[in-house]
Amino acid sequence: MQKPWQLQLKQALTGRSGHALRQQADYNEGANDLFKMVCTDEITRAIKQAHNPKAIIRQFLPASAEHHVTEGYQQDPVGDQNALAQQGIIHKYHGRVLLVASGSCAVNCRYCFRRHFPYQQHLASRHNWQAVIDYLSKHTEVHEIILSGADPLTLTTKTLTALTDRLSDLDHIKTLRIHSRMATVLPDRIDADFLAWLDSLPFHKVLVNHINHADELTQQAKTSLNQLKQHGVVLLNQSVLLKGINDNADDLVELSHALFKQGVLPYYLHLFDRVQNAAHFDVELSQAQHIYAEMRRKLPGYLLPKLVKEIAGEKAKTPVL
Ligand SMILES: *Cc1c(COP(=O)(O)O)cnc(C)c1O
Ligand code: SF4
Repeated sequence: MQKPWQLQLKQALTGRSGHALRQQADYNEGANDLFKMVCTDEITRAIKQAHNPKAIIRQFLPASAEHHVTEGYQQDPVGDQNALAQQGIIHKYHGRVLLVASGSCAVNCRYCFRRHFPYQQHLASRHNWQAVIDYLSKHTEVHEIILSGADPLTLTTKTLTALTDRLSDLDHIKTLRIHSRMATVLPDRIDADFLAWLDSLPFHKVLVNHINHADELTQQAKTSLNQLKQHGVVLLNQSVLLKGINDNADDLVELSHALFKQGVLPYYLHLFDRVQNAAHFDVELSQAQHIYAEMRRKLPGYLLPKLVKEIAGEKAKTPVL
């Protein structure tokens, strides 16, 4: 179902410059049937202001290359479905569990490793929260809840409040972590109600943003991040290393500095998870290592994200050196 904020990027990219951008992104309408294009106004603003519009547009525009089926690339590259402890709970890692809290996003990123994920079967939606609470009550070693999805901030603040009201009954839960792209792709989501909800939480609060290129940091995105910081949220960022988007050290170094300026620390730089229909984003390992070595030379340690790879079945993300 179309959400009110969702905008057809294609429509925003009309006219001569739009045509050029579509060409740069290898735009293909048919690829929309493989994974629906979903975008926001803020993204189109970012594209218009970008030094390198390609770096943004390729993240969101369906491309011809998505029709290629590549050997070795999978529907579920990180083994999420095998790690489901029960409906909506992915319990792979020690001390923390991930809740698949929502099945939609404000944007659909073409390289998403969950682009084929059957959310409807696996969602921790409201009617099975009780089962989630029961599971967590039995697992007192879990101290951190990661709200993920898709994007958990597609839930209304009212729904989030109802969920955290239940979670706050569990004394062993100390930290609430949110994995979301909202602060940058739909900064309006960080509204007064949402900030009041954050203030009300009895947890340490962490927001892991997802920003791949400095050009995504629009003025409004910066304002939202600033507000989150003022409301006591620890701000981190994860990026994915993507061919044709950020596969060079200069862009990534610039991103780290731009994040720091907004009070966000670079956390992870993920190697691309080999999801089917998106192989054209993959960066060769030797190239990734080369880029990372250059980042290490140019960045202070605290601005160097950890280069990691998700290996299905492993108990943590695997560092890549
Ligand atoms: C990445 C991930 C986490 C969190 O891992 P951290 O290393 O704590 O950031 C938790 N669960 C799943 C399934 C993950 O993929
Ligand atoms: S916001 Fe995250 S979960 Fe949603 S499509 Fe993008 S990468 Fe995937």
